[in-house]
Amino acid sequence: MTANPAYEALTIDTLPTRLGQVAALTAQVGGGDWQVQEVGDGNLNLVFIVTGPRGKAIVKQALPYVRLVGDSWPLPLYRAFFEYNALTRQAARDPGSVPVIHHFDETQALIVMEFLEPHRILRRKLIDGERVAGLAAFLGRFCARTAFRGSELSMASPDKKADVALFAGNVEIPAITESLVFTDPYYAAEMNSHTPGLEPVIARLRADVDLKIRAQQALQRFVSNTETMVHGDLHSGSIMSTADDSRVIDPEFVQYGPMGFDIGMLCANFLMAFFSQPAHRGDDLADYQDWILSVIADVWSTFEAEFRSLWQSERTGILFPATLFEDQGHDSAPACDAVLTGIRRDAWTVCGIEMHRRCLSLAHNADFEDIEDPTIRAPLEARNLMLGADLIRTAETITGAEEVCDRARGYN
Ligand code: ADP
Ligand code: MG
Ligand code: MG
Ligand code: MG
Repeated sequence: MTANPAYEALTIDTLPTRLGQVAALTAQVGGGDWQVQEVGDGNLNLVFIVTGPRGKAIVKQALPYVRLVGDSWPLPLYRAFFEYNALTRQAARDPGSVPVIHHFDETQALIVMEFLEPHRILRRKLIDGERVAGLAAFLGRFCARTAFRGSELSMASPDKKADVALFAGNVEIPAITESLVFTDPYYAAEMNSHTPGLEPVIARLRADVDLKIRAQQALQRFVSNTETMVHGDLHSGSIMSTADDSRVIDPEFVQYGPMGFDIGMLCANFLMAFFSQPAHRGDDLADYQDWILSVIADVWSTFEAEFRSLWQSERTGILFPATLFEDQGHDSAPACDAVLTGIRRDAWTVCGIEMHRRCLSLAHNADFEDIEDPTIRAPLEARNLMLGADLIRTAETITGAEEVCDRARGYN
């Protein structure tokens, strides 16, 4: 073996030989006999669970193409570099929020990280009707801390510019979001698919010029506004939880973008969980749907409280300096309110767009896809599409998450 062999995708058979000498991995799992298992539920990458005599670890390796589609859709290996760099920043900005990273190999596009156990993907837990204590507080804090601490509200300007430049190299992955999320739902894009029966609702969305303008304005902000480092793919499949502990994984869609992007996408995924529940629950339907809505409301109340607290204690960047407010005897709380108003507008617009793309574009979500009967699935997806449109049209005037939860109940 050469010191720096060319990239080669791992297999369960080659992994023990190829990674057997990686000290950071043997330190976790122990040397000797390893069992290797491939996790099959991601869309883009290879993920292996390595079990050795002392423990387990995750090995995640990028493929030069989209795993879900195959080698007809090439995708650069460098996304592992950006995922690694995103994870280190998230760990610094919100300690304990992401798996511990043990090793990164840029040539092999490979990350060795903590195996989260007994954590399960949150989307599966929501489909199964499980509750997670502390979930909303964890997610609200994560969104607020990463948004605030990755922006010029907190960072020194040269550091922020350097980081924006670094992550600007992540081109093809965010480009998937640009088309798949923001644009494809609103025309008959080639890879789109939808449940039969939704055609009248889809026709109404695509005939709504005002809605398409709003969606494209949100795309314009997504590509040109570098407010903070966003996770970029913060849905319930990028969160792993036990009954009372949660972590965020899979930030390969990282970029600098609008502060409202992550929390908006996140809330869309809770709303889709909400709308899909009639097909998954029995007697506990109403209680469980209430819990999901309470998570949305609590994510926002934690987000805003944490953001306001960081505003008071960590406003060390060039934005809204104390020289303009406190030092002149002015309370800066109204300035914080104004920033939060902008975040809410961006977030609820993205929320509505995410609700659309998950039913109309390429990558659908299991909340709806697991409903086998299309005559049951279609009306639930239709409610979701209609609320999404409602949120996009009115994002500027939505007072808060409680109002959105009330509207969701109205469509249910
Ligand atoms: P992709 O980028 O392909 O979506 P993910 O990072 O989402 O890959 O990982 C795919 C799956 O692997 C996850 O859905 C989860 O089941 C599992 N997984 C990923 N990271 C971990 C981890 N640190 N601990 C346990 N399981 C993990
Ligand atoms: Mg994933
Ligand atoms: Mg579908
Ligand atoms: Mg991913």
